[in-house]
Amino acid sequence: MKICSGCGAELQIQDENAPGYVTSSAFTRENPLCRRCFRLRHYGEFIRVQLGADDYRQEVSRIREVPGRVLYVLDVFDLSGSMIPGAADILRSCEVDLVVNKIDLLPREVVPARLEHWIRREVEKTGVQVNGVFFVSAETGKGMKEIKEHLARVPESIIYALGTANVGKSTLLNRLIRNSREESVFTTSRVPGTTLRMVGQKVEIEGNTKQIMDTPGLLQGTRISEWLCPKCLKIAVPRAQLRPRIYQLRPAQTIFLGGLVRFDFVSGAPQSVVFYVSNELPVHRTKLERAPEIQEHRHQEILKIPCRDCQENYPSLLPHKLATRRIVSALSSNVQVLDVHGVDLVLPGLGWITLFGSRFEGTLWLPEGVPLTIRRRFI
Ligand code: GDP
Repeated sequence: MKICSGCGAELQIQDENAPGYVTSSAFTRENPLCRRCFRLRHYGEFIRVQLGADDYRQEVSRIREVPGRVLYVLDVFDLSGSMIPGAADILRSCEVDLVVNKIDLLPREVVPARLEHWIRREVEKTGVQVNGVFFVSAETGKGMKEIKEHLARVPESIIYALGTANVGKSTLLNRLIRNSREESVFTTSRVPGTTLRMVGQKVEIEGNTKQIMDTPGLLQGTRISEWLCPKCLKIAVPRAQLRPRIYQLRPAQTIFLGGLVRFDFVSGAPQSVVFYVSNELPVHRTKLERAPEIQEHRHQEILKIPCRDCQENYPSLLPHKLATRRIVSALSSNVQVLDVHGVDLVLPGLGWITLFGSRFEGTLWLPEGVPLTIRRRFI
């Protein structure tokens, strides 16, 4: 068995996202570093290692042994999917700040600060006590100054960054490091291998030296984006500020978001429905009666994505019935009741659909394994 001389992970050449990954040529060298440690050492770059639930828990639970400040990173596009199961237990001896990332993608109409109260409450419902809430775009750098000023002030010298896969944790850490370098006050030192397999970096932030500990990412299996190839991801995952895509819908109509999600409007009042999804994602409107045939047989021709390769792995779409209260009393019990003040139906990782509370009965079809999340509408 060969061990990475940086982090102590067992070296392997099979899985790029698992700990200890190294290319086969590097594997044969003497004392090789895994790719992650190599990049960290030579380029000051964090790359994410993704773990399944059990390994993940075992690894991050070690935070309790050396408590510090925790930046709990959440993706504003998938808040519930970014929450780490059991986080309250892992974080019980730490001070926690929330970092809500990817705000550059939010439509202009959404004022992030107005979401603070709601996000704080959602996280505190999971038992995690929250100090500050920061809204950032790790991609554009927006909000990073506030985080840096905050980190410089906190008494803790160890800062952990915690988050599920894809919330943007590596992008955030890289920016934290890069900015320090630009100010020419950056010093790095690789933390010797530990059984934690967390990797640390000393960063000078506004005159204060902090040890930033990167933790692996947890793969939740609850995001639509987790089943897509890079080409499909480019189309499906928002990369620019979302523009509302407004549809005037009548009963007995269906909207397909590619073949990733299906939205049936069965009955109710004609109404506007707004789709906040990637500007590139193909949206196809059809009659409800034609939807099964399109879904089954005309996938590539009409819905376009997922591509043929992704389609093989893409989970089947499962129906979630929805209705406003005025309709629901007449329906069976497995119907989600929609608030008449309007709701967002969350499409984890992709965006959301806004309904404004008019009489509605319908079905949202999500890939198997993706939970239905309904929240008060953002806009
Ligand atoms: P990690 O798995 O949590 O480390 O996430 P990454 O840093 O690898 O980011 C996952 C994806 O989200 C990548 O495609 C990033 O480019 C993207 N991303 C990260 N931060 C932001 C952000 O602030 N805005 C946008 N638009 N995309 C982001």
